[in-house]
Amino acid sequence: MLLFAIRLRQAYQRRFRITLGGNEYMDSGMIGKIQKARQYAEEPERVTFESFVVTFRGNHDLYHITYDAGQWTCQCNFFQSHGVCSHTMAMERLLGEMLKAPEAQS
Ligand SMILES: [Zn+2]
Repeated sequence: MLLFAIRLRQAYQRRFRITLGGNEYMDSGMIGKIQKARQYAEEPERVTFESFVVTFRGNHDLYHITYDAGQWTCQCNFFQSHGVCSHTMAMERLLGEMLKAPEAQS
């Protein structure tokens, strides 16, 4: 989580830095936005992932993992027989409360 926040911060800093004649200037409104982004990045509870696809580099192979409305899929053999695996469990630990809860079956 901390690493994610740091990377987000670095991306913002790179994107909004303006260089003129070797000196760096920043729009004052943008400074406020960056400060707010820093605060937001410390509050992961504001974010809910709805769906995504990742490539997970396991010890022996790469696995494509998908996540959609609380449902995981992974290419690995263990997931096919158990519906869960070390890769999806690792993703749950990484993303924690930012994952959308599975939708209730009606
Ligand atoms: Zn897996």
